[in-house]
Amino acid sequence: MKSAIVIILACLSAHLLQAQTNPLWTEKKVKNYLPHMTVPEVNDFLTRSDMVIIPVGAMEQHGYHLPIGTDFINGVEQCKLIAQQRDILVAPVLMAGQSPYHMGFAGTITLKQETIIQVHMEAIESLIHHGFKRFVILNAHSGNTAVSALLVDKVNQTTPGIAVNFEQAIAPFRERQQTQASTTPAVFDRHGGTPETSSSLYLMPTLVQLDKAVPATLTLPPHMQAMLPAVNSGDPTASLVFLAEGLKAKETGKHTSSAEMSSTGVWGVRDPKESTLARGAASSQGTVAAAVKFIDRWNELRPYKPTK
Ligand SMILES: [Zn+2]
Repeated sequence: MKSAIVIILACLSAHLLQAQTNPLWTEKKVKNYLPHMTVPEVNDFLTRSDMVIIPVGAMEQHGYHLPIGTDFINGVEQCKLIAQQRDILVAPVLMAGQSPYHMGFAGTITLKQETIIQVHMEAIESLIHHGFKRFVILNAHSGNTAVSALLVDKVNQTTPGIAVNFEQAIAPFRERQQTQASTTPAVFDRHGGTPETSSSLYLMPTLVQLDKAVPATLTLPPHMQAMLPAVNSGDPTASLVFLAEGLKAKETGKHTSSAEMSSTGVWGVRDPKESTLARGAASSQGTVAAAVKFIDRWNELRPYKPTK
């Protein structure tokens, strides 16, 4: 009888222990990911490296099949993968970015350029205070391109830190990609389209709802529609003027916000269902490989000497 009670009590306490853990918790501790690290782990990191990677993301509509956090999540995941290969601290600072032209779709959050710069500068100054010196700014959303460039320059001009832009940094180390251009005609396929959806299938697979994807109907202003063949053929001037005018806030009166140009919010004519995990994996792994080569080269050019 006593042993039966002991067994019942043991079962009950095991059940209670299980019930004490957050049922939604699925995260695993990731190496070199600042939000998961303890103070001793940060101090230990500083004995090996002073390099930080900061993803600059966005919280914005991505059509019917990708989540609002796509750019933030993909950016962070890409940084984490790089940080498993080399000692570089992953320090996300902000989830949202500059996305005024997506405000026609519910859920989008947009921040002003000055806010994004201000918050990142304060974060970078904090990290410099602790002994970090070198910063890689990974822009995960094309709407942040100018902000990211300004951030890099501002770090270099006004702090003891040294910053570089991720895309520029890894460009010389990228393997020449096999393009489909020779076999398939170029098709307009940008925001929320097959490149981004393929990357998402690799980087955040449980958050992609490919079954919800539908091809977008585009309603570009007629003069921009007329530019599309030149843009698709890779004409640099056509691309420059097309993108200068395209995807801008409704308030500018250009009629090029995403809600004015796309039925679903996806900026492309290819069906996102054509996205593949293989394509996303190749893209992400190619980026990691190039990033590793850049980090090695930077460490070779400027060897790290711990100050503490
Ligand atoms: Zn995106």
